[in-house]
Amino acid sequence: MDCLFCKIVKGEIPCTKVYEDDKVLAFNDINPVAPYHILVIPKQHFDSIADVSDKDMEIVAHIHSVINKIAIDKGFSDAGFRIINNCREDGGQEVKHLHYHVLAGKKLPLYEAEKK
Ligand code: AMP
Ligand code: ZN
Repeated sequence: MDCLFCKIVKGEIPCTKVYEDDKVLAFNDINPVAPYHILVIPKQHFDSIADVSDKDMEIVAHIHSVINKIAIDKGFSDAGFRIINNCREDGGQEVKHLHYHVLAGKKLPLYEAEKK
């Protein structure tokens, strides 16, 4: 399958690695929108969160656990951070491999769902 993030997992495309274990890889976003902009992905390919069945959902808990570890390790846990998952067309998902954006390092601007 021709998937950018699968190629990163396989080492065929380079990344700046932030964290890795047997199930998850985290690396810096190539086009950061905050001082910290880290992508956290499962090594297993899922097109999007909507494509993760109940039996595979434990990977999502693991990703959140990894995000907490990264936040502590990088020193932005206390100040806070934002996790974003863009899902499919209307969610603005460009790379069709499940991934979570972690943004931190400054007071982040309001996003669409917060605007009244
Ligand atoms: P999304 O719009 O949620 O699918 O986000 C895809 C993200 O992947 C964007 O923030 C891109 O900047 C990022 N991205 C695309 N190619 C790479 C790459 N080779 N290495 C790191 N991040 C990438
Ligand atoms: Zn993939």
